Amino acid sequence: MKYVDEYRNGKLVNVLRDELNRITTQPIRVMEVCGTHTMSIFRHGIRDMLPEQVQLISGPGCPVCVTPSGMIDRFVELAERSDIIITTFGDMIRVPGDNGSLAQARSRGAQVKIVYSPMDALAFAEKESDKLVVFLSVGFETTTPTIAATILEAKRRGIENFCVFPANKVMPPPLAVLMQDPELQLDGLLCPGHVSIITGSDMFNFLVVEYNLACVVAGFEPTDILQAIIRIVKQVKQGCPTVENCYGRVVTSKGNGRAKQLVEEVFKFVDTEWRGLGEIPKSGLGIRDDYKKFDVTKRLGISIPSSQEPKGCRCGEILKGICEPTDCPLFGKRCGPNYPVGPCMVSSEGTCAAWYRYGALEQ
Ligand code: SF4
Repeated sequence: MKYVDEYRNGKLVNVLRDELNRITTQPIRVMEVCGTHTMSIFRHGIRDMLPEQVQLISGPGCPVCVTPSGMIDRFVELAERSDIIITTFGDMIRVPGDNGSLAQARSRGAQVKIVYSPMDALAFAEKESDKLVVFLSVGFETTTPTIAATILEAKRRGIENFCVFPANKVMPPPLAVLMQDPELQLDGLLCPGHVSIITGSDMFNFLVVEYNLACVVAGFEPTDILQAIIRIVKQVKQGCPTVENCYGRVVTSKGNGRAKQLVEEVFKFVDTEWRGLGEIPKSGLGIRDDYKKFDVTKRLGISIPSSQEPKGCRCGEILKGICEPTDCPLFGKRCGPNYPVGPCMVSSEGTCAAWYRYGALEQ
């Protein structure tokens, strides 16, 4: 298949749905790790097509959602300085911390700009040479290579008033933490397609070896997702879990070597806090000493305070997959997309936003 509508072909979707229903003979719990999968599953009504025995659980795969509130407070504090311009991807701007969101800071006069690439932030720095331009580097393995490339470019062009707030995270350590949680009891993992383009599908081998988990890399169209769930069900039934790649049109076993090289050059693994999961060793990426002048936390001596969830918000448990948005008493009452309390309702990849947008309130 070549065009996106072929991957959404209703007849093919029905064939896959029927096959899934035919082969499922036992309860199977599958986590979709990636927020883009969560959104796609809701957008295409995939939960309604599944046999009752297949349960989909959303995981911690939205980078905005897992950024702890203490870090958001630091973003807001920086934004309120008159000598700083904050640049960020759009989702982060409305996430509330203890002292409000970046959007609220902007309404008070702070300079907060939405960019589509860290290179746009570098272009701002060139134009606004009397300000320090800080890019909020929030994301998983998918976004880190472009940030590394931007730091290298800033160094090459001698741009001194550009730096990054390093908040990038990597997927394997939190997955290992989740697999050890006795409350979860997963059989399979719908592995994130975007991340796998960079890392390669081999990154998930340890989950098969250490946790006996069926792992299937999937794309984001309905036929991709249904096909991957079928593969997981077959692996579980046969009792021989492995890593399979159902997104072969863009994912390889080894990933993108050049992108991995860029990340390795600029970043190193550091311990970092995840909302809902706490501090996880070597699950974040910090900037190496050779590039420390591009690290705003080193340049301005910033430390990250410990975080508190907004009162009543259950994002932490939702990110661990142990409760659903409708278990939160604030869902659809005090918390909605126009008046979010927690990050899972703000982000376009957030689980609460997906449930709200695609009708969980009506069920
Ligand atoms: S509904 Fe709102 S308050 Fe409740 S968990 Fe989701 S984001 Fe947090």
